[in-house]
Amino acid sequence: MQLKTILNQCHKFKSFVYDKVRFVAEAGENVIEVTVLPRRNSQAICSCCSRPAPLYDRLQERRFEFIPLWGYRVFLVYLMRRVSCPACGIKVEQVPWARGKRELTDTYQQFLAHWAKKLSWKEVAVSFRTSWEKVFQAVEYMVEWGLEHRDLSGVTAIGVDEIAWRKGHHYLTMVYQIDADNTRLLWVGKERTVKTLLRFFRFFGKEQNQALKYVCSDMWGPYIKVIKKKAGQAQAVRQRCCI
Ligand SMILES: [Zn+2]
Repeated sequence: MQLKTILNQCHKFKSFVYDKVRFVAEAGENVIEVTVLPRRNSQAICSCCSRPAPLYDRLQERRFEFIPLWGYRVFLVYLMRRVSCPACGIKVEQVPWARGKRELTDTYQQFLAHWAKKLSWKEVAVSFRTSWEKVFQAVEYMVEWGLEHRDLSGVTAIGVDEIAWRKGHHYLTMVYQIDADNTRLLWVGKERTVKTLLRFFRFFGKEQNQALKYVCSDMWGPYIKVIKKKAGQAQAVRQRCCI
């Protein structure tokens, strides 16, 4: 069975087709590149308004990483186009396998985020020969996706935690829902500053902030300051490790 057949079975798009599949030597290893072409007579989609728009020009080729196959890294290669959208002007087209400037396909991000629930992020990065940063991006993407598609009402208890990564004091702030009947990762942001946690509360929304009854965090000053300001009504639970 050819790789193209497998892709057409599990990762098929209406307006695009898979073309050549080849090995390419890269930094001492072979990677698999799969060329993607627009389907004949299909129209490009404006990334701004998600509507079809006339073609304007072509940009450079971009590579999007897909799930590795038998240890080989797999990339979709596509010559991006720009459209002349009547509503938005000249815009880069939208492609259905990746969002914005991301280098990973949505499918690969889902794959990495799935494994990141079972293994440490570092183990995921090593196992699939990617970087910690990309595993972070994948988890962030899935959290964002989940938040767009899930109901956040009824969250009354949250835990704010920090994790260190990389040498030299790099941190992430993780916010979990810790209600008795629902524990899940709600949000992840870089650093552990006042600004970081403010971003969470801004995203969570005023109404939801005020509905919080319990906020659990460690004694880190910036967190305490922001929690007091944004969810002052909630009972603060301070401990070193709350989750
Ligand atoms: Zn548009």
